[in-house]
Amino acid sequence: MRRLFLARLAIVVALSFYFVSCTHEEEILTPIPEEPSDELVAFLVSSGFNEEEIKLEEDVFVINEDILISKDEVQKYVDGNKSDVSGASTEHYRGSYLVGNSYVTNIKFYIDSSVPSSWITAIQGAVNQWNSVNGTKLYMSIVSSSSNANTIIGTGYSSQNWVARAYLPSYNGRPGHTMTINTKYNYLNSGYKLFTIVHEMGHIFGLYHTDQTQGYFINGTPSVDSNSVMNSYILPWNGFTSGDVSAVQILYPQ
Ligand SMILES: [Zn+2]
Repeated sequence: MRRLFLARLAIVVALSFYFVSCTHEEEILTPIPEEPSDELVAFLVSSGFNEEEIKLEEDVFVINEDILISKDEVQKYVDGNKSDVSGASTEHYRGSYLVGNSYVTNIKFYIDSSVPSSWITAIQGAVNQWNSVNGTKLYMSIVSSSSNANTIIGTGYSSQNWVARAYLPSYNGRPGHTMTINTKYNYLNSGYKLFTIVHEMGHIFGLYHTDQTQGYFINGTPSVDSNSVMNSYILPWNGFTSGDVSAVQILYPQ
């Protein structure tokens, strides 16, 4: 009994220390969580994203788990929208999500040294797959220097269930600047890894999810395409569907 009491006391003392130090740390290190700006969220919703699928993590909006766009970037879209009094149509904003001509003919990826070799194989394979699509000016390559790159591919660990995630193209027509691979999923086989990277590259140059109604529908592509690489779920790689091919041919014609 006496022992138990002491143990309890020790726990109470330990807990109070924990809370004190925790509170102390939080006061110094953790800024007050910022509520997502209504204006920015409203803009994303007006772009076709579902509000319940938009989360804000450290100044970056995470949409449908794997699509990233920074708050600053959304603010630029919103500001561009406001200053646009010249009567340009909404097509303009859709266009600003796409990659500009000077980049899309050679999107340059740099693979960070933290990326395991099995994922490097998948990245090389994904570049080859996209480059094999005919009738589009889309072309990409892997460069050996990060300073020459448009997109850095790196790794991170998250207990969440996204395998990889990527930024959308930026306001100035540059490809999405970062792709992150979740090392929690290093065990996936090569077919799933290849599918994952081909998919994330699609986000880098502006494709959204085929099976969700976000963004602008690409006229000329099928409305249902259960094997599309741009569905929100991962399949073993089995090549592009004709809808995937049409999407890039229409967005980035030769
Ligand atoms: Zn995705």
